Amino acid sequence: MSIDVRNITRTYGDFYALDDVSVALPTGQLTALLGPSGGGKSTLLRIIAGLDTADSGSVSIEGVDATKLPPQKRNVGFVFQHYAAFKHMSVAKNVAFGLEIRKRPKVEVKKRVGELLELVHLSPFADRMPSQLSGGQRQRMALARALAVEPTVLLLDEPFGALDAKVRKELREWLRRLHDEVHVTTVFVTHDQEEAMEVADEIVVINGGRIEQVGSPDELYDQPANDFVMGFLGEVTRLGHVQLRPHDIEVAVGPGRAGAHAGRVTRLQRVGFEVRLLVELESVEPGREVAPVSVSVTRSHAHALDLELGARVWLTPAVGATTVPAMVAV
Ligand code: ADP
Ligand code: MG
Repeated sequence: MSIDVRNITRTYGDFYALDDVSVALPTGQLTALLGPSGGGKSTLLRIIAGLDTADSGSVSIEGVDATKLPPQKRNVGFVFQHYAAFKHMSVAKNVAFGLEIRKRPKVEVKKRVGELLELVHLSPFADRMPSQLSGGQRQRMALARALAVEPTVLLLDEPFGALDAKVRKELREWLRRLHDEVHVTTVFVTHDQEEAMEVADEIVVINGGRIEQVGSPDELYDQPANDFVMGFLGEVTRLGHVQLRPHDIEVAVGPGRAGAHAGRVTRLQRVGFEVRLLVELESVEPGREVAPVSVSVTRSHAHALDLELGARVWLTPAVGATTVPAMVAV
């Protein structure tokens, strides 16, 4: 294991930012720490980096107990959302910084900086100042700088969080490719489930200072441990006694299978290839308010069924649908 976090607790007064968290991250893997804001992601990352200290528990990195080591002795690279570049230094100088303070030979520094700028696709910008880079380019420079000293682990705290959606999407694809080339053990904090699912080998879902589930993107999506994970990783709706994803509901226009829920389409909204429906169920017990069911079908499917507003439909969970029990009081 590259990073072994054991029984870490971190409190602020009587508030538990992390509550007995244990997780092991294999060498060479790209792991996402995913969860809502305030869940404890940054706290955990900072404790791994040595920038914050736990009340109890231990952290080891590549088999070495790092619990009491200062950050500079842990050999970690760190990139934050708002990266503080040295404004008065060129891009190349920024990347070279860590090597220069370690007094590496000039020739070696020059060669390494050249390679790193190549790696992050910034070679043509070597002599620019940071202020002459776009936000995305600056974060790539930050990554090159963090990688320069060949860290054992790379820790990224919402590195693309301040960028606009399109650049963020490009950078996450780029980060995935970069990781496939360099294979440095990487921990990536994000609150964006799509980002985590696209980039990570494994996802650790953190909420309220505790780990909800650890698994591959597919495992989390298809076999969520609980309704929190299910709801955090994608849209969910309620049909009878279960919660499931809107695209995992089968729609029939004649009385469907036994146990199908009859209802009427009260909203029909086309979004690209998808048609989103709201269906109000008929057989609801009197006096009990139930939210309309969200259903998603493809446009061609909606066409084939001749779906329109007010249509009477029958809903059933699709075969193989991922479901979790619905909470009793909704
Ligand atoms: P995340 O990165 O998942 O958004 P954080 O790890 O930053 O969450 O914070 C976890 C919780 O700890 C939050 O509720 C936050 O308010 C609290 N917290 C973090 N740092 C401090 C601090 N210095 N003092 C008091 N509370 C803090
Ligand atoms: Mg954070």
